[in-house]
Amino acid sequence: MKARNGDGVETLLIRYGLNPRLYSRQFKQLNQKNLRRGNGLITGRTYLLPKAQATRKNASRSAARTTPRRARTTARAVTRLPVSKAPISSAQLFGPRIGTPRAQNGTLRGAVFYLSSGHGGPDPGAIGKYGSFKLAEDEYAYDVTVRLARVLIENGATVYVMVQDPNDGIRDENVLPMDYDEVHYPHRPIPLSQVQRLRQRIAQVNALHARHKGAYQRLLALHVDSRSEGQNIDVFFYHHPNSPTGLRLAKNIHRVFTSRYKRAQPNRPYSGNVSERGTLFEVRNSHAPAVFMELGNIRNQKDQRRFVVADNRQALANWIAEGIIADYRGKK
Ligand SMILES: [Zn+2]
Repeated sequence: MKARNGDGVETLLIRYGLNPRLYSRQFKQLNQKNLRRGNGLITGRTYLLPKAQATRKNASRSAARTTPRRARTTARAVTRLPVSKAPISSAQLFGPRIGTPRAQNGTLRGAVFYLSSGHGGPDPGAIGKYGSFKLAEDEYAYDVTVRLARVLIENGATVYVMVQDPNDGIRDENVLPMDYDEVHYPHRPIPLSQVQRLRQRIAQVNALHARHKGAYQRLLALHVDSRSEGQNIDVFFYHHPNSPTGLRLAKNIHRVFTSRYKRAQPNRPYSGNVSERGTLFEVRNSHAPAVFMELGNIRNQKDQRRFVVADNRQALANWIAEGIIADYRGKK
């Protein structure tokens, strides 16, 4: 695995679903030669990951999960979801300043949205350096997502925010502190392992999807990634190759971004695009047509400006909502 800028042993292990408490020592042994003093990682260098040991309790389960058919069943099964505490209230979700958003018009009446912000809980996602601060992907994706939820609700939609923080709400600060207390809707701990995390999230989405049978339902996954280091990556939209409805929504949102970018930054060509990516877990397994978005690169200085300014985060949410409204209006 290649280390990214800002990675430490812990962040790298967490990203690959390995508990640092169990695997740090083994990792250090495996990678002795490539560690700096104080166990720092060297950006761009390749590291070996310890093999995850199946504990006796889940050995048979994880073995079964490698077969694709079983994986599909898991994503559908409602009963496998762990018990949840009392749901997070919408006043907690949006923060005391905003309170509970109310429908102000019926533009999206009848539409149901599942908003899934990338990572969360024990996994902060990609981490960018901003002066002496660290910017965590999950906090910025989360803030845009909650802002989007608010706009959609105000337009009359039913919205499920799949990752929820009990005390962040909508925040206007530039640097959003990294925390680990996000939970899955309605109030379940977020698993450390990425596979389990996405499986749990999508199982919940699909259970709700069945409840809203017949409605216009869409899943939006929001990320602020760092796939190409140092590069300005604009905004990318992915959909399933077999989902014309997912493609249509992606195109509608992309169209808004293209025109808004032209207006805001006429000298900088916008190079975001829409493409197929059937390998993304959420896109592949969601029963609701899905669009997966990469809103920018948390490690790129120009992209960082898009995220550290609260008004820019609101603009991203507004543009996504605008694209969604266009899509809903144009539905058959
Ligand atoms: Zn991500």
